[in-house]
Amino acid sequence: MAERLEKLGIELVQDFLFHLPLRYQDRTRIYPIGSLNEGQEVLIEGEIENATIVMRRKRMLLCTISDGSGRITLRFFHFSNAQHQGMTQGKRLRCFGEIRRGPQSLEIVHPEYKVLSATSSIPMENTLTPTYPTTEGLQQRSFRRLIGLALAHVNELEDLIPVEVQQQYRLANIHEALRTLHNPTPETNVSAFLSGQHPAQRRLIFEEMMAHHMSLRKLREQAKQLPGIAIDEGDRLYQKLLQQLPFTLTNAQQHVIKELRNDMQQSYPMSRLVQGDVGSGKTLVAAAAALYAIESDFQVALMAPTEILAEQHYQNFSEWLAPLGLEVSWISGKQTAKERRSQVENLLMGITHIAIGTHALFQADVQFKQLGLVIVDEQHRFGVDQRLALREKGQQAEHYPHQLIMTATPIPRTLAMTTCADLDYSVIDELPPGRQSIKTVALANDRRDEIIQRIQSICDSGSQVYWVCTLIEESEALQCQNAEETWELLKEKLPTLEIGLVHGRMKSDQKDAVMSAFKQGDIHVLVATTVIEVGVDVPNASLMIVENAERLGLAQLHQLRGRVGRGTTASSCVLLYQAPLSKNAFKRIDALRKSSDGFEIARIDLEIRGPGEVFGTRQTGELRFRIADLSRDQHLLPDVQQAAQAVLTQTPDVAEKLIKRWIHRADDYSKV
Ligand code: ADP
Ligand code: MG
Repeated sequence: MAERLEKLGIELVQDFLFHLPLRYQDRTRIYPIGSLNEGQEVLIEGEIENATIVMRRKRMLLCTISDGSGRITLRFFHFSNAQHQGMTQGKRLRCFGEIRRGPQSLEIVHPEYKVLSATSSIPMENTLTPTYPTTEGLQQRSFRRLIGLALAHVNELEDLIPVEVQQQYRLANIHEALRTLHNPTPETNVSAFLSGQHPAQRRLIFEEMMAHHMSLRKLREQAKQLPGIAIDEGDRLYQKLLQQLPFTLTNAQQHVIKELRNDMQQSYPMSRLVQGDVGSGKTLVAAAAALYAIESDFQVALMAPTEILAEQHYQNFSEWLAPLGLEVSWISGKQTAKERRSQVENLLMGITHIAIGTHALFQADVQFKQLGLVIVDEQHRFGVDQRLALREKGQQAEHYPHQLIMTATPIPRTLAMTTCADLDYSVIDELPPGRQSIKTVALANDRRDEIIQRIQSICDSGSQVYWVCTLIEESEALQCQNAEETWELLKEKLPTLEIGLVHGRMKSDQKDAVMSAFKQGDIHVLVATTVIEVGVDVPNASLMIVENAERLGLAQLHQLRGRVGRGTTASSCVLLYQAPLSKNAFKRIDALRKSSDGFEIARIDLEIRGPGEVFGTRQTGELRFRIADLSRDQHLLPDVQQAAQAVLTQTPDVAEKLIKRWIHRADDYSKV
């Protein structure tokens, strides 16, 4: 038993108490069959109409019961003769199970059931029944018994949230809260409970979120104890870069650059997240940080999520840095062994000042002479564990390099401060002047011909166009095929224009050739898959058409759209969709039509999808919560942050205990 419990992370009595139910079964009342919905897990009662064995692909027993309000099928694949014979017409059954949609009607597969006799009646349970996450060989029933034993000791548990904090945020007492969660009483408000709004739940949700927040904050404090490199040789190179730019920096850019410089002057490694909307000029901010590091004779690694983006950064940085006499190298997974070897050698010898690439940058053969700064650009999912891994990889002889992370898509502030609380945080909250807003329209697929005519006139006026072909199915091959077909079609319909094609299955030198021809204006229309989603920067492009827009997420559409509106010409984005639109697809497209503010769009995205999806938190195992649910409970975040800060500074030992209580060792990043 101890071994089994250990698998669940249970060693102490207190671990039982914090092993919270996954969900609850409501066996307190009987639902009318006519009122049932798919997915509910409920108790029903009805009279048997018939029970027959049928042969489909498998032999099965089907029993229909009705209660006057409706009828439902009970389906059994495993059953005994005695069971079948016990189901005589007219008898009453009480059943419990999950309602599913069957071929003919609603049904329950393998319900728990009891035959009711006319004389005796079985009492209903009067509380919600908890269901626990458990492990093989440990039944719910025995687990509940163990929890019951542990609950007898609940009052011995220390209430770790200080009384003042409890009062300030109106939190229930821990003993009461745990008792209710494990053992809801008949008085418990069932609907509040099932939707996670009960005060007992709120108390534990609050506590769990505090623990996570504190663990990330501690991580940040610990990072400040690590040896870094104070970079303090001045900004000659940076000033030179500014002189050669055709524009001046926005106030927001200057402000963030100052913050970065200040961070890098410290003797511990910087860990800063820079958020900025699409087109806010993050690349230049990164370049400024890079120049500070280079000025002090340190090397810089810049990691991009895709080859195309890495290539583009390589071009930009070469253009900016070559006049300053600096060496930029490009490490690609697709280079020949010989090319790569020479790039890698130059890095190791310290000839190269900045290396740009995808994850290929951090393969074992790539070593730096003096790595001082790691920049991560536009990664969609770059969670705590990746950040830590990167820091370890970047470790030099006796110091850790500075880390600068730039988000691809804005995250709403409260959430950023939770999921990224181990980082310092800056926002570039201003776009370069003169940007034209992007007009966004949604059109049904059957209006393609109009659009094609529009392309002709846009190109005749000197602008360029993106045509983005998106996933038809989860298949890259199909996506590329679709792009090829569209390319053929556009070539045929627009014979005077130069049409280019770029997709993920092309060789990288082919892709590069097409991209640079587009950049130089030799190609008018670029047909592309979502390989151009992030970062691609061609200011002369002023029209984007996105096919199957209804299938893309909001953040992705906003990113794509951000490829236009980068110059001074008024730009537009046409979202082509296949009617009819689902409710959520409509919401997404509508949000894009109404707003061009990435932070606002991020907020709506979160509302539609919830943070689990947005950040991949549950999927990637990062931020595993037992009771909190970031999308349902995000309104608590500002209070949680405040309370956590208070406990961390006033009673660090209590904070420590709180973290230990909620976060299993494997998830406690501050212990890595
Ligand atoms: P993102 O934040 O999306 O990465 P980029 O760094 O690619 O944005 O910048 C978008 C475009 O804006 C680039 O062409 C860049 O040269 C230009 N840019 C950056 N800063 C400014 C500025 N202060 N004024 C004018 N243009 C700028
Ligand atoms: Mg960028």
